[in-house]
Amino acid sequence: MENSKALFERAVKVMPGGVNSPVRAFKSVGGAPLFISRADRSKIYDVDGNSYIDYVSSWGPMILGHNNAAIRTAVINAVQEGLSFGAPTEAEVKLAEKIVSFAPGVEMVRMVNSGTEAVMSALRLARAYTGRRKIIKYEGCYHGHADSMLVKAGSGALTTGQPDSLGVTDCVAEDTLITSYNDLAGTEELLKKYEVACVIVEPVAGNMGVVLPGEGFLSGLRDLCDTYGALLIFDEVITGFRLAKGGAQEYYGVRADLATYGKIIGGGMPVGAYGGRTEIMELVSPIGTVYQAGTLSGNPVAMAAGLAQLEALENADIYGHINKMGAKLATGLTDIARNLEIKSVVNQAGSLVCQFFGVEAAEDYQSVKMANTNLYARYFREMLAAGVYLAPSQFESAFINYAHTEKDIDDTLNAAQKALKKMRGEGVI
Ligand SMILES: *Cc1c(COP(=O)(O)O)cnc(C)c1O
Repeated sequence: MENSKALFERAVKVMPGGVNSPVRAFKSVGGAPLFISRADRSKIYDVDGNSYIDYVSSWGPMILGHNNAAIRTAVINAVQEGLSFGAPTEAEVKLAEKIVSFAPGVEMVRMVNSGTEAVMSALRLARAYTGRRKIIKYEGCYHGHADSMLVKAGSGALTTGQPDSLGVTDCVAEDTLITSYNDLAGTEELLKKYEVACVIVEPVAGNMGVVLPGEGFLSGLRDLCDTYGALLIFDEVITGFRLAKGGAQEYYGVRADLATYGKIIGGGMPVGAYGGRTEIMELVSPIGTVYQAGTLSGNPVAMAAGLAQLEALENADIYGHINKMGAKLATGLTDIARNLEIKSVVNQAGSLVCQFFGVEAAEDYQSVKMANTNLYARYFREMLAAGVYLAPSQFESAFINYAHTEKDIDDTLNAAQKALKKMRGEGVI
């Protein structure tokens, strides 16, 4: 096989930036991306012959670790029966039943093919149910790349949003209202001023690094939505089946009206889903008048992978282990930074961990934006050289999976200690 450098040279000629999703391009940490040939348990292997302890975990789906035997067997068995039929199958019923049994408040689901699609469909449904147009979103939360979610705050308080990508029209952007994560007062002002269909939130923000919901934030949103007649949508594409079997709704004990899923529910295959109370979900076609469809939705191979993953999450003490490893990593990184007198904060929610450099708090987009991304880039390269594959961006989570061992975490902490000490010695940090 060709090496990473040669493959990247070919890739950039035929794909924008040489990648199929932007963060893979290593743009914010410098250098060219590694091409991966395989992955097993907690490790990934590149085409250049190196192995790494992996904290990207395919951005979250691989909660059992890579190349899990149960998922692999389920996929191989499904493949032998045919790849896609465009007609109902038993596997999709089983996966839907499993999701409904895991997720509090989810009585019905519709399978789609990505998190983006789940969010886009849930927003349409919320608008249909309430008969309202506006949507509230939080600065720094990511909900996939549907037009109405690629919107940033306008100038001045309480204005409507502006496009955050070329190609998104002002008309679409102005229906999305933006406020700060953890800001209940700002949310209420928007709910008072506008007729709002829904508030969409990442219950733990995992796309600006990791930012935790402050005490009372999620339950406060529940109350505000009830008061002002808006639906509350939890975007659980990261947190679903990760914080707990029942995701953030179970972990924080707050019910959303609709929840969106992705990542983990596909076991590594492209799957998304949205769900909620029957009364709302029955508006979806073919029984309702909210149109939403998908040629490959509920694909039998993808369903087999998702079902095997969720069944595994039911049977073993996955959460005890990954949360313990998350705490071990977060505590270790905090201690290392403190001992070396490095200004840094480590945020952790269960198996989601993120270390920010150059700041003492990371509570919303305004504060995480102050993080020193140059330091992160240097740290990332040091860690990579030491055999630890972190996210190639400051603003992503490390994902702990069930295959990460105590030794993996110890090795990672040793690498971090060496890397930061070296940077300290050189005066870059
Ligand atoms: C990844 C992600 C999405 C988008 O999912 P895709 O499958 O990449 O389309 C949406 N919401 C959140 C919270 C995510 O982390």
